Amino acid sequence: MKLKQFHHQQDFQHFLTQHPKVQKHVQIETAIMSHRTQEQRFYLDGYCHVCEQPTQFLIDKQYGAEETSQGWLPNWRERLACVHCQLNNRQRAILHALKEAVKKRTSQVLSIYAMEHVSPTFHWLSQHLPQVTCIGSEYLGDQIPGGTLVNGIRHENVEALSLADRSIDLILSNDVLEHVNLPELAMAEMYRVLKPHGEIFVTIPFHLNTFENTRRAHLTQGVLTHLLPPMYHGNPLSEAGSLVFNDFGWEFVEQLKTAGFQDVSLCHYWSYLHGYLGEPLYYFWAYK
Ligand SMILES: [Zn+2]
Repeated sequence: MKLKQFHHQQDFQHFLTQHPKVQKHVQIETAIMSHRTQEQRFYLDGYCHVCEQPTQFLIDKQYGAEETSQGWLPNWRERLACVHCQLNNRQRAILHALKEAVKKRTSQVLSIYAMEHVSPTFHWLSQHLPQVTCIGSEYLGDQIPGGTLVNGIRHENVEALSLADRSIDLILSNDVLEHVNLPELAMAEMYRVLKPHGEIFVTIPFHLNTFENTRRAHLTQGVLTHLLPPMYHGNPLSEAGSLVFNDFGWEFVEQLKTAGFQDVSLCHYWSYLHGYLGEPLYYFWAYK
């Protein structure tokens, strides 16, 4: 996976606005859609790095396609579903990164902790990496002890994990930390449970042009206070969805550094072949 790593807001903004490669990517994406104004769905040929075989990626109007004067734009991040594994752009990309991290590790016993359990990504992880112990969890309520299985689903509060110190090699956190009341506690917990040289792979809704995080709500002594109109994201276990507590800007990078992480980076990627379209695409990475 070809990555470009960024550590500072200015560097990434400069890259996005000035780099010819980024402009080329946007041109390619525009050209793809300019031929598809009348189509509701179409496929692009490519190679799925998760399935490790040639495939077709489905692009349709699900998950908020945008109608424009020139036609329509898909939600690239959530589409480009591989016809074999069904995983979408962002799910395949983060699994691609994890697979490469697993391959690089020489240890015989590897463990991954994912802050998700009822998800296509975790399902894939638990089925396809036989040499790796995969632990996944969901948040099931504040009265349940961490590590408890409820109907086969493991509960964890990521602000206070039940996992042992230095027990995990790789942590995956996909669009979870924005739903945590005190994300700095979750970051400290990720650091605590990682083995030395352990790595984290994190995605969050991210405000590229902002430094400071914005708190939308807080929970103090069991009392929930909304500071901004409540915003909810889809949750496979709750029809009400999950409340967003924080909107993250580049302060997020500083928080990970404060938690102790090294080389905290925004990793940018793009690949037509692998079906990673939709500038800008990125995840956060760091190690202990
Ligand atoms: Zn696939």
